[in-house]
Amino acid sequence: MSVALQLQKIRSELPPSVTLVAVSKTKPISLIQEAYQEGQRHFGENYIQELVEKQAQLPQDICWHAIGHLQSNKVKYIAPFVYLIHGVDSLSLLKEINKQGQKNKRMIKCLLQIHIAQEETKFGFSFSECENILASGMLNSLPHVQIQGFMGMASNTNNKEQIRNEFKNLHAFFCKHQQQQPLLQTLSMGMSSDYSIAVEQGSTMLRLGSSIFGERVYH
Ligand SMILES: *Cc1c(COP(=O)(O)O)cnc(C)c1O
Repeated sequence: MSVALQLQKIRSELPPSVTLVAVSKTKPISLIQEAYQEGQRHFGENYIQELVEKQAQLPQDICWHAIGHLQSNKVKYIAPFVYLIHGVDSLSLLKEINKQGQKNKRMIKCLLQIHIAQEETKFGFSFSECENILASGMLNSLPHVQIQGFMGMASNTNNKEQIRNEFKNLHAFFCKHQQQQPLLQTLSMGMSSDYSIAVEQGSTMLRLGSSIFGERVYH
């Protein structure tokens, strides 16, 4: 099925309150343009060099999301334009984002990544680490960073109950903190394999790659 048809089909299943980020990593410019023609404006990439190259070649009204693990020394390349950084998983990264935000005279929107999966390989803060950051007041000393919410990735498993529980816990954490900090408005959870469960559990932002663009081939 074409990218346009996939997008139409997925959108028709989603509540209007959910933002769809089309994850275009490894995919050619032509497919991104096809999605753009279909009205898609939010795109996500993992690899910074690829993100920067694509941003330069595509329409300037695209909102670019940096969704994967981000190394501090790469922040400077995306700081001038990035719309939202999903994978903030350390304080040193947050400080570097603030520094680059200051250099570019802008406020950079970020999501704190929370480790909700059982695998040890996935990045992110624990709930209590995240809570400590929010309570510590240290964000006040980072005026060029705006924490807009949280991001999480569920375990890579076929066990739907486990995925549901992981998303449910993250959503509960989000709601609890949103009551205290209304600026928290984004809960990025759900990928191609688990997005229906994520929506059911209160996701406000999906990151979908293969379900829109087809399977990725790595060379
Ligand atoms: C690649 C990637 C996605 C999209 O994965 P699909 O399974 O293709 O939907 C979402 N989030 C992150 C962090 C990714 O790296």
